[in-house]
Amino acid sequence: MTQSKPKRALQTRIVQAEDKLTPGFESFAVPVTRASTVVFPDLATMRAIDWRSDAQWRYGLHATPTSLTLAQRLAALEGGNHALLQPSGLSAISNVYFGLVKTGDDVLIPDNVYAPNRDHGDWLARDFGITTRYYDPMIGAGIADLIQPNTRLLWLEAPGSVTMEVSDIPALAAAARARNVVTAIDNTWSAGLAFRPFEHGVDISVQALTKYQSGGSDVMMGATITVDQELHLKLKAARMRMGVGVSSDDCSLILRSLPSMKVRFEQHDRSALALAHWLKTRPEVATVLHPALPDCPGHEFYERDFTGAGGLFSIVLDAQYSAAQVDAFCEALELFSIGWSWGGAHSLVMPYDIASMRSVERWGKRGTLVRFYIGLEEEADLRADIEQSFSVLRA
Ligand SMILES: *Cc1c(COP(=O)(O)O)cnc(C)c1O
Repeated sequence: MTQSKPKRALQTRIVQAEDKLTPGFESFAVPVTRASTVVFPDLATMRAIDWRSDAQWRYGLHATPTSLTLAQRLAALEGGNHALLQPSGLSAISNVYFGLVKTGDDVLIPDNVYAPNRDHGDWLARDFGITTRYYDPMIGAGIADLIQPNTRLLWLEAPGSVTMEVSDIPALAAAARARNVVTAIDNTWSAGLAFRPFEHGVDISVQALTKYQSGGSDVMMGATITVDQELHLKLKAARMRMGVGVSSDDCSLILRSLPSMKVRFEQHDRSALALAHWLKTRPEVATVLHPALPDCPGHEFYERDFTGAGGLFSIVLDAQYSAAQVDAFCEALELFSIGWSWGGAHSLVMPYDIASMRSVERWGKRGTLVRFYIGLEEEADLRADIEQSFSVLRA
């Protein structure tokens, strides 16, 4: 005989509803699982939870089925074993610092690094007793001379996301590994598609998922991807102690875009490359800084190590044009919006004053740098738009 259930008040039945759904529903969408509290079947299960395991559910901050699905897909994409999601690309960068570096340690950073990474390193150097030193991104194996006994972390970025120099990553990574220095690459430019860091001896790949993985210019997220379990756990412990997590809703947006990323990346690549070749023929342009073109420093490493370029590249305009004229050129573009970030469908433009962004390497080029992000608009229309803006530049 089944025991009859106690009759409970309406309010209790609303809170602890007994949903009756037909099992067996399946779709392609990864379900959005939201949680702060994770519920354990019994106390023994709760007590046996090990924070080191990615396979155990513990608390909504650390992982949900939605966020772990995204993390696993990102790790698989780059050939890693683990991925940690962060609320932005910058937060993935700062977590690398907090996970690996302590007072008294030394960090080496390329001079063309993503500017907020430079600012973060400078902050730690000023207020937290580490040292940060900048190196010429073209230094290659010469990095060995800069490594000190207290050097813990070597940042890599190829190409630099504004000036586009492509470092010799295998040479840098080998020199670091020989001295037990951990390497972390900001691999956002290649989306993890066109450059495979772990095949070149790098330890950590950092992605700003805000860019191509999102593809919609509407969600912020970042990730660190690793092969090594011990390194993953250092980063995981830092993330946990900082109280950092991501929302499953945001993860579901990225999961929705990820299957189309490679196709989008290849389309951005085709249009950007065609425009870069055309810009090279224009008298207004002094240099085209696109890694697939020979004028770009490190072009030979791009040819050797990369399989594509995506939509981001820069040009240096002829030195006869003033900064004000270049500003007018950027503003006269109708299809290119002025804004940070990239990876979405819309084309973007931004002028940069490079000399003010460097500390080691002298920026030898005269003329103002303009960075383009080539979106998914028709390439011929973008070309016509740049052409009409050149007439404003010359005016
Ligand atoms: C955008 C970007 C980041 C930071 O990503 P956010 O999600 O915007 O914080 C880091 N590195 C590079 C190279 C980027 O372009």
